[in-house]
Amino acid sequence: MEDWTCSGGTRQEGGVRQEEGVLDMAVIGAGPAGLTAGLYAARAGLDVAVFERITPGGQLGQTEHMENYPGFPEGANGFDLAFAMKQQADRFGARTVSEEVTAVDFTQEPKVVSTAFGEYRARSVVIATGARSRRLGLELEEELQGRGVSYCATCDGNFFSGQDVVVVGGGNTAAGDAIYLSRICRKVYLVHRRDKLRATAIYHKRLEDLPNVEFVWDAAPRALVAEDGRLAGVRVEMLKTGEMRDIACAGLFVAVGTQPNTEFLDGALTLDETGYIVAGESGRTAIPGVYAAGDVRTKALRQVVTAVSDGAVCAEGAAEFLAV
Ligand code: NAP
Repeated sequence: MEDWTCSGGTRQEGGVRQEEGVLDMAVIGAGPAGLTAGLYAARAGLDVAVFERITPGGQLGQTEHMENYPGFPEGANGFDLAFAMKQQADRFGARTVSEEVTAVDFTQEPKVVSTAFGEYRARSVVIATGARSRRLGLELEEELQGRGVSYCATCDGNFFSGQDVVVVGGGNTAAGDAIYLSRICRKVYLVHRRDKLRATAIYHKRLEDLPNVEFVWDAAPRALVAEDGRLAGVRVEMLKTGEMRDIACAGLFVAVGTQPNTEFLDGALTLDETGYIVAGESGRTAIPGVYAAGDVRTKALRQVVTAVSDGAVCAEGAAEFLAV
């Protein structure tokens, strides 16, 4: 941990008042939104640190192939794109702190951001902690994670080469996972609770054309079957008839949406009923100098392209706030 926690005098630099030992901006989360906030803040001359608990990149770092990020006519590898974003932020002086933020205190000025290693103080904070995969909530789901149950097809798909797998969900993640896994696995069952995908139209035809993908419509997973401590099958309820169907499979890929990473806020900011930080297009929260960027905030479209936009808007907003 670098020592940015000590307080000291103030100095004037480029219109921004800086106190020694106090960051101009703490960015929490190093996904596309956080890395872009770091880039824009560093280029605006701010002393900025980006906090990340695991590896930079967030959900993007686990995306094999992205076709809807402008500028990449052949598509982009998510990990490579995330790595390039990190390098770009680094190049302009955004510092990375590899520590998980466990608590914040926005009642103090400067604001306090705590990790297991200490307390950091910052005059502005951008929260860009994103979201994580939602669980199905089935018995054995936790125990079988890493033993057949996965939340990341691109991370774990290769473990199921030549085997049968189930993907649960009907959104873009489920559709993309099923397409990806169809290239590795013998058979992919796409289990969805309705008879229509939520995923973008372009995925529908692609999935229908894959001979080893079977749609299991109007079906909800009800139980996991284990053998020798590993997943052996999924029992699904056919919702229109009430019948149970057992699907033998070595892998289950859960793609039923995401939930925001906001637990560490512990009441510091207003959340909506599903846990997202209430903030509009400006990213401003109810606390002056605190912003929310990317998937963690209330918004209509959660995509990499909207996350990077949020990061830029929040950093610029914070720079203006600090210059006043
Ligand atoms: P999502 O769009 O929220 O889809 C979640 C899917 O899971 C829905 O089909 C939903 O069914 C189903 N579901 C939810 N709870 C369930 C449960 N308990 N049991 C069974 N099924 C359940 O989530 P996502 O696919 O992870 O995508 C998240 C965001 O990232 C979206 O905005 C998405 O567009 C974006 N994304 C974009 C791309 C891309 O553009 N390439 C790729 C991945 C993700 P219903 O349809 O019945 O609600």
